[in-house]
Amino acid sequence: MVTCELLSVGTELLLGDILNTNVQYLSREMAALGITVLHQSTVGDNAERLSAEIRSSLSRSDMVIATGGLGPTSDDITKEVACEVLGFRLVRDEGILAEIEAYFRRRGHVMPAANAKQADVPEGGTVFKNSCGTAPGAALEKDGKCVIILPGPPREMTAMFEQSVKPFLISKYSGGVIVSHTIRTYGIGESAMALKVSDYLENGNPTVAPYAKDGEALLRVTARAENAEKAEALMSPVIDDIKTRLSEYVYAVDSCSLQETVVGLLREKGLKLALAESCTAGYIAKRITEIPGSSRVFDCGAVTYSNEMKTKLLNVSPETIKNFGAVSEQTAVEMARGIKELSGADIGLSVTGIAGPGGEGEKPDGLSYIGVCGNGGLFAERFETGRGNNREYNRYCTASKALDVLRRFIIRNY
Ligand code: ATP
Repeated sequence: MVTCELLSVGTELLLGDILNTNVQYLSREMAALGITVLHQSTVGDNAERLSAEIRSSLSRSDMVIATGGLGPTSDDITKEVACEVLGFRLVRDEGILAEIEAYFRRRGHVMPAANAKQADVPEGGTVFKNSCGTAPGAALEKDGKCVIILPGPPREMTAMFEQSVKPFLISKYSGGVIVSHTIRTYGIGESAMALKVSDYLENGNPTVAPYAKDGEALLRVTARAENAEKAEALMSPVIDDIKTRLSEYVYAVDSCSLQETVVGLLREKGLKLALAESCTAGYIAKRITEIPGSSRVFDCGAVTYSNEMKTKLLNVSPETIKNFGAVSEQTAVEMARGIKELSGADIGLSVTGIAGPGGEGEKPDGLSYIGVCGNGGLFAERFETGRGNNREYNRYCTASKALDVLRRFIIRNY
């Protein structure tokens, strides 16, 4: 098992001025490469603490990846400190200096003298070019240990990782190829999902790692092998078994979104969809129409925000709204039936809910009812995002839930 630690450098991070997205990105990438991240830490721009952190990380793990502190100013010290800890000498690389000068020239500036220090590279180290900025990164290897230093700005860091660091790590640690697949689920929480596949989480090759994203739970399966074919052969039985265990929660493998899955199903079955959206107000329509070819399956969407329009356009009975409220199972059912009848589509899907803030009691923020009308029947499901008054999150998650309700309805009934 190859082990790694992630070290974020920057006082801004400690002050909470910026969100540490580098660590999230690198953690995922390491998991995909089958490298185990043992520890993550953050230090300010302080040479003593940075040096101590690198030393203690190297005492526990094979590798440290540090981001930030490669800039031109005097508080950017990561490279100098890493070189000191591992006993590397910094030497000026004239080629890189010329590239940095050219970088400024292209933008109509003369390189400030301070930037020259970014052309100092560790002698005997591996240098990674920066295609989006000025500071190169580097890998310093000594006595079986490795320190990788990367720039802080995420755009520069991710480009450098993709272009140079990943190939470096693959050639160094895998001696073959690394292939991964993502199993996408909806409707099961990350921990419940992890429990169902807990035996696989201990696996060495392929590795199986759970994570959550935008209200969905995902499993990344990664294999190391001599070639892609062998890696696929290692993963295929594991993926099949996981799909069986998680059954209807799995909506896709790899980069297919919920809306892509739904559009695919509608196309496969030759069905037309019509939407009636309150609460999400076109969010589902937007996500459906992001998919090329959706015009063949998407008939129309009505954003009926007011009670009056729910009645006028969708024929929702004023009595229903008066007796049960606009956010109710009964209203959702009538909206779904109304839009199906109005459009003549095969399936009517409706949403009525509370994006927040303002919900309370039995009707909290994030509550919605999702109605469906089609061959298989007419019903509505109650859903709660459970995220308080985060309006954007509530609308996004409600749209995801509606897409999943639709997905299951099509699978069951057509
Ligand atoms: P520069 O040459 O721009 O000074 P640097 O390598 O010295 O780059 P820092 O000065 O530490 O990097 O950070 C520059 C900017 O990059 C920060 O202001 C911040 O916006 C972003 N950044 C740094 N570290 C992270 C991180 N861990 N996650 C997200 N953003 C980060």
